[in-house]
Amino acid sequence: MRQTLLPYGRQSLTDEDVRAVVDVLRSDWITTGPQVEAFELAFAETVQARHAVSFSSGTAALHAAAFAAGLGPGDEAVTTPLTFCATANAVLYQGATPVFADVSPDTLTLDAVAVESRVGPATKAILPVDYAGHAADLDALLALAARRKLIVIEDACHALGGRDRGRPIGSISHMTAFSFHPVKHVTTGEGGMVTTGDPALAERLRLFRNHGIDRSARERQGGQLWQYDMRVLGYNYRLSDIGCALGRTQLARLPDNLRRRREIAARYDAGLRGLPGLRLPMVRPGVEHAWHLYPIRCDRTVTSAGRDEILRALRAEGIGANVHYAPVHLHSYYRERFGYRPGHCPIAEDVSANEISLPLFPGMTDSDVEDVLSAVTKVFGYWSA
Ligand SMILES: *Cc1c(COP(=O)(O)O)cnc(C)c1O
Repeated sequence: MRQTLLPYGRQSLTDEDVRAVVDVLRSDWITTGPQVEAFELAFAETVQARHAVSFSSGTAALHAAAFAAGLGPGDEAVTTPLTFCATANAVLYQGATPVFADVSPDTLTLDAVAVESRVGPATKAILPVDYAGHAADLDALLALAARRKLIVIEDACHALGGRDRGRPIGSISHMTAFSFHPVKHVTTGEGGMVTTGDPALAERLRLFRNHGIDRSARERQGGQLWQYDMRVLGYNYRLSDIGCALGRTQLARLPDNLRRRREIAARYDAGLRGLPGLRLPMVRPGVEHAWHLYPIRCDRTVTSAGRDEILRALRAEGIGANVHYAPVHLHSYYRERFGYRPGHCPIAEDVSANEISLPLFPGMTDSDVEDVLSAVTKVFGYWSA
């Protein structure tokens, strides 16, 4: 048994990252300076998007996308309950109403048929989530969006580096949001990004992250004396040069990061296939998974213990497995405000009750991976006998 708890996710930082941050600290600009544009350009190139706009968090990125999409009071946006609450909260920040549709039981991403059944006259946007790093059913959702004149804001906080039918995540939807929280593929400490192919949306995203003011401090220094104009109500959602410098060196290692994540997922697939009592994640043909999470599901027709008991046993073995997620509509805020009850999205609720995310991050050693396999084999063997 392990002496120390293996976390489910963890940042990978190198001396090169440290040097990049220290160089910025010694330079003239520590916030909105040259690193911001350099990071945005590198990011746009990585995901083959025309525009990339950085933000102070993934949540701020989602909020800005909800603003740029024009969401406001009286509007609805359809999203998945199997996500971090920030996806749906972004809709609420704009005074609009999130509407939850169920997920498909294989990929655990929004079911396009379920989405269509929740689209009504007030619907303005769809917010799919690339759960665990597996692309949502983007072509079906974009076709539905085209028919009903909706905007697709893809929450790709799990899916940097993933692809769908050859296209990089970040180049497909009207807007795509990413997070640079330490457990994600690339970290800036806190940070986020929105990519889009539409210059008008990019302009609105840039306005929103800087108080709705149409000039950066740098441009003002070059040209005008002191004037600036606030055109819309925005926020200070800027990502600093310190963060962007870190983002650039992190992004340069994304291919290595993805390779290691895929190696670990393949080892889990091989080591756990056929084990009674658990279901492994599936990958739809044409999808290149980014493997932010490796979500297994307890099969309650086989296991004599519930998920929480299994999770507790894994923790006792030193395996810091986790759960993604509690269904958003069943958090007390959503229940109290909207009156949601269990049964609203039965598949997502069932997944949520039985899911376990195994540790998965590029810094895991082969022996960490073997520790996870033996603990899972032991624990499921005990309760599936
Ligand atoms: C991490 C995450 C967010 C929020 O990103 P932050 O950078 O933590 O604000 C939103 N949605 C999903 C699916 C996430 O995993």
